Amino acid sequence: MLRTFPHIRFGLMVGVRGGAPNPHPQDAKEDIRLGDVVVSGPRGSHGGVIQYDRGKETDDDFDIQSHLNKPPGILLKAVNMLQSDHGFKRDKTKEYMADVNAKAEMLPDFGDCHFPGRGQDRLFKADNRHVNVEGRQDCSACDLRQTVRRRDRQSDEPVVHLGLIASANRVMKSAQHREKLRKAWNVSCFETEAAGLMNDFPFIVIRGICDHSDDHKNKAWQPYAAVAAAAYAKDLLRIIQPSEVQKAPRAADVTNLEPEAPKDPKTAGDDVSRTEKNGNHSETTGKLSHHGGYCFLGEAKLDNVDKALASDRDAFREDLRRLM
Ligand SMILES: [Zn+2]
Repeated sequence: MLRTFPHIRFGLMVGVRGGAPNPHPQDAKEDIRLGDVVVSGPRGSHGGVIQYDRGKETDDDFDIQSHLNKPPGILLKAVNMLQSDHGFKRDKTKEYMADVNAKAEMLPDFGDCHFPGRGQDRLFKADNRHVNVEGRQDCSACDLRQTVRRRDRQSDEPVVHLGLIASANRVMKSAQHREKLRKAWNVSCFETEAAGLMNDFPFIVIRGICDHSDDHKNKAWQPYAAVAAAAYAKDLLRIIQPSEVQKAPRAADVTNLEPEAPKDPKTAGDDVSRTEKNGNHSETTGKLSHHGGYCFLGEAKLDNVDKALASDRDAFREDLRRLM
């Protein structure tokens, strides 16, 4: 994708994933609740994302040795500014979420992305297992007496947490494993896609929290959490000035791209036709193929990308001409 769109400066990986709740005795905002947003940020010697399935076994533990570079300065600066805006209620995340809900009500097939209610946010004790009932995806058969008591929040608005995101090729469904990693590494969120990105690709991960990374997980919070993450991402792009984007190094220049394999002239041009046929961007993006669908450019409307990422219409149209 970076070869196809060489003017890209950075990527935003936006979506939903599991949280690592940490009930706080005094501050309910410190605890990660369903519907909150976790943003990858540097922690100690780690850039914000660790790959918890890559490392080496020690005598009594597993030493994680793989982590991705920290997000580029332009994104970290914007994240910090937006945190300040949240503190002063100057952010627009809540407004953007309300926009989505208003539009969703006019589109019957859009689905319900309203706040499910704090009563639907149940954190079970780490040693309690989900009781599965055929045909149901909720916890109706689970023992609610085994849930953790948590302090009430004064507001239902999403809280944004900057923290370490743990990524792997498999979904985290074990509360005990989650707790082990949270305590050892101070992990805030578990997901499965960031680990697939190149180590030096400049990006940041934004995840709406839709479950507690345990076996009680279901899909009830996914729509709301997705809207929260998307609204935060839009707000983040609002903060970044186009002039800063233009000054930022191009992602292609800071990423160690492997040399492109020469194309067979007989099949040249097939990439675009396949995209038109099945709508899958991944087949057009060469070496980065399986990452394309996760990157901001792969999901956003071109108008928004033009404004938000390229900030230079001529440069972006040049990229598009190369694609077409
Ligand atoms: Zn359950």
